Amino acid sequence: MTWPAAEALKQQIPLLDYAEGQGWKPVRRIGRGRLMGLCPLHVDHKPSFLLDPNNNLFYCYGCGRGGDVIRFAELYHGVRFREAIALLRCWHGVTSLLDDVSKFYQAQLHRHSEAATYLYERGLHEPELIEDLGIGYAPGRCLRSWLMSLGYPLSYLHQAGVVTPEGFDTFAHRIVFPLECNLYGRSIGQAAPHKFLPGGKGGLYGWEKVRNFAEIILVEGLFDLAVLRQAGFANVTCSIGSYLNGAQMQQLCDGATRTVYVAFDSDRNGSGQRAARQLAQRLWDHRVEAFRVELPDGHDPNSFFVHGDGDAHQFQALLERAHS
Ligand SMILES: [Zn+2]
Repeated sequence: MTWPAAEALKQQIPLLDYAEGQGWKPVRRIGRGRLMGLCPLHVDHKPSFLLDPNNNLFYCYGCGRGGDVIRFAELYHGVRFREAIALLRCWHGVTSLLDDVSKFYQAQLHRHSEAATYLYERGLHEPELIEDLGIGYAPGRCLRSWLMSLGYPLSYLHQAGVVTPEGFDTFAHRIVFPLECNLYGRSIGQAAPHKFLPGGKGGLYGWEKVRNFAEIILVEGLFDLAVLRQAGFANVTCSIGSYLNGAQMQQLCDGATRTVYVAFDSDRNGSGQRAARQLAQRLWDHRVEAFRVELPDGHDPNSFFVHGDGDAHQFQALLERAHS
């Protein structure tokens, strides 16, 4: 990416629009149209974040950081320059492309028995939930030609990353969950299990839907989330991996009063529970009430329901036994 291209992107994306798109809200107006609000880059309790819409710049009097929209995206998502550019591009224009890609994958789900079998094995059987989560299947062919038939130029598909430089569909044999401005693909073949397209994992899954619950269940994987939703728990979100990035921590520590139940994997090597302990400690350090849910040995929430004969009642009992 050349500098002029980065400059053009800065012209195209008003910082205020982008910040508001990430959930930032101004709380008061000061001189020359400038706005103050809580800093989305650190845990802020009084508004110390200044945004100047006329100059497209920000500065935080709390954490001392400032800059343009690209710098904001770098800090907010905890990514490097190139990734920030990709995320901004996505936010600006790739969204409609990813919508079309998701629709294609959703249509494929019912045409490929290996995909239906995989979902069944992971305990997902409610069509309404599968539709609600927008789950699809990337068979690894036909996406490129379909998108080109919709009028997308091939160069654009390369640039967005949905087609490889060699001209193949990037996602192949993956169950796909649409994220915000992003896709997550879970391999059901030989390839590396987790892959994001085009950027990193972003914030917590479905945050806007759960942020107002007084109690939130946080899981590692989207299949954990799916079975819990199916079992009637609406207040579930997912960090997609046991390490929370800066944006995800910021969401949990946004100043609202809530309790977080960390329901990570109880894998035999102890890594999930170790991560849960560290996370609970980080949350307490930010004055967020956090408890660890202990699943039976060797289980994650998904396997607890699917292979461990667990049900909503038993999971509720685990929540009640959760500890700090
Ligand atoms: Zn700050």
